[in-house]
Amino acid sequence: MKGRRENLKPCSRKRPPNRLNATKDIMNLQVVKTPTLPDAQSVTSVTHWTDTLFSFRVTRPQSLRFRSGEFVMIGLLKDDGKPLLRAYSIASPSWDEELEFYSIKVPDGPLTSRLQKIKKGDEIILRPKPVGTLVLDALLPGKRLWMICTGTGVAPFASLLRDPETYEAYDQVILAHTCRMKAELAYGAELTAALPNDPLIGELVGDKLHYYPTTTREPSQNEGRITDHIRSGQVFETLGLPQWTPTEDRVMICGSIALNKDIMALCEAQGLTEGANSKPAEFVVEKAFVD
Ligand SMILES: Cc1cc2nc3c(=O)[nH]c(=O)nc-3n(C[C@H](O)[C@H](O)[C@H](O)COP(=O)(O)OP(=O)(O)OC[C@H]3O[C@@H](n4cnc5c(N)ncnc54)[C@H](O)[C@@H]3O)c2cc1C
Repeated sequence: MKGRRENLKPCSRKRPPNRLNATKDIMNLQVVKTPTLPDAQSVTSVTHWTDTLFSFRVTRPQSLRFRSGEFVMIGLLKDDGKPLLRAYSIASPSWDEELEFYSIKVPDGPLTSRLQKIKKGDEIILRPKPVGTLVLDALLPGKRLWMICTGTGVAPFASLLRDPETYEAYDQVILAHTCRMKAELAYGAELTAALPNDPLIGELVGDKLHYYPTTTREPSQNEGRITDHIRSGQVFETLGLPQWTPTEDRVMICGSIALNKDIMALCEAQGLTEGANSKPAEFVVEKAFVD
């Protein structure tokens, strides 16, 4: 990455170097990278899921506290030296030592055309000011938590699904993820498949977690839009769960503006009202991206 400085420091400070062991000490030198970007964090791993989707993990600033489901601004420096930042949901839970992000690759996207090329050891900018409405605090207590998303809208839910508080607060947790193709579901599918056996929270997850993937442009077990599956009742029938009620069901929505509007209307038709951090209620919504 541009402008990075590298400091060379000896591995061992026990013995001052002298002429005899100078060569050995030089051989033992290790590279310590000094972040030079504003709010720099180092990339620790990158996974490419498809041609258009990837996830990556970065070091976590020691001072960063966030609630699972929140987003921050991340980015890279532009050629003119100014930061280019975009909103990104933190996909890792609040207790994790690192931060994970799940990203689209927009071919001509100012940020993601470059961000998709990051590799382990590179640095990104991360502004440590988390915000957002897809948090447990913005919902009134309930029995079932529905998470409904399209594409990278699954990111905040990947955070909440790995948070023990989610399973302490709800009897049942449902992730309904709609993508165009089956391959685009892989990130959410792997996560939900692994959770019941997770050594840290597997016991809490137990049989509370339900996964309902749908595809719109490729045949699959549940073809079609999640909105249609809710309207027809198919999702409730398949999962053996009742229709939404304001007393028992809580809904979190994260997708395109169109999906958000449709699901909000379905929530309201069932008597659920929109919540916020300042006024918890029965459903909350956030845009997965700005069109
Ligand atoms: C609250 C919030 C949280 C967000 N969280 C994430 C996240 O966790 N992961 C993520 O990849 N993006 C997320 N985004 C979108 C993100 O901020 C950027 O838009 C995205 O990284 C593309 O940046 P860009 O500069 O390459 O292109 P931009 O100029 O930002 O976008 C170009 C066009 O690409 C399309 N687009 C942008 N983002 C997406 C997307 N995620 N899915 C489908 N189409 C898209 C839109 O049509 C947009 O007009 C979030 C946006 C908001 C508002």
